[in-house]
Amino acid sequence: MDPITALLDDVLEEMRGLESGEPAAYIPELADADVDTLAFAAVGPRGRVRAVGDADTEFTIQSISKPFVLALALAERGRESVLQKVGVEPSGEPFNAISLEPGTGRPANPMVNAGAIATTALIVGDDVDTKTGRIVEMLSAFAGRSLWVDESVYASESATGDRNRALAHLLRSHGVITGSVDTVVESYFRQCSLVVTVRDLAVMAATLAFGGRNPVTGVRVVEEAVARDVLSIMTSCGMYDFSGEWLLRVGLPAKSGVSGGLLAVAPSQFGVAAFSPRLDQHGNSVRGIAVVETFAERFGMHLLEPH
Ligand code: GLN
Repeated sequence: MDPITALLDDVLEEMRGLESGEPAAYIPELADADVDTLAFAAVGPRGRVRAVGDADTEFTIQSISKPFVLALALAERGRESVLQKVGVEPSGEPFNAISLEPGTGRPANPMVNAGAIATTALIVGDDVDTKTGRIVEMLSAFAGRSLWVDESVYASESATGDRNRALAHLLRSHGVITGSVDTVVESYFRQCSLVVTVRDLAVMAATLAFGGRNPVTGVRVVEEAVARDVLSIMTSCGMYDFSGEWLLRVGLPAKSGVSGGLLAVAPSQFGVAAFSPRLDQHGNSVRGIAVVETFAERFGMHLLEPH
């Protein structure tokens, strides 16, 4: 084992004892997750993927899709058009809050559900297949392999998605969404149901870390300016109502999802990702946070530290 993989493995083993939290319970596919699963991966500048633990376990990407769909919206529409429909201020509220700006109805930011739904609405296409096709293509380019939708998770998301549907109707009442609410929310449920592994997430994080160029495939996925915008918003808003404390403790742009995934970006250095299904009260992976925090500390990766 090379020294970096050995360090990843040490960090992972240290965190195995953390047993607090519960997996998400709103759909059976997430509630039934094996809570002992634990995985960690890192991808460096030359595209070498180092992974430890249950690195091949598949899970749905959930909210970690949000920064990558935002990247697509920025690439398709440009920053100013995106900003007309969704803000960039941390909401300080849970992921599913009704955080709409008084007056305009603009959601607080693209990393909470309301803002993510507004972002999905911006993706080119008037039907679910076209929108989802573009989203799957973009996220696959970030991951460096073809991703697919877990149809049973999608069916459950859609069957239990009344709050997201309600958020979308509110957005439509403010003119943030035009056209079919169903097209937008079903596309959003499908983007959340994309299947990934911790390796995929680490490669996706690394693509952002290296300015939008996937270091494994060598493909430029988005322009550097788009990657920078996405990372800026992840820095202030990526961990829901824990974003401020995360920035203080870890100092890296990051994004979490309700299935227990977490990715973080050390610009020009590493993309990292962790997976463990037990969540804290903010909906972030308990062991995922601990693993990434410890790794960032050992490597001195806090962005605001003098280097
Ligand atoms: N599908 C979930 C939802 O929209 C994703 C939320 C999350 O990962 N926090 O409620």
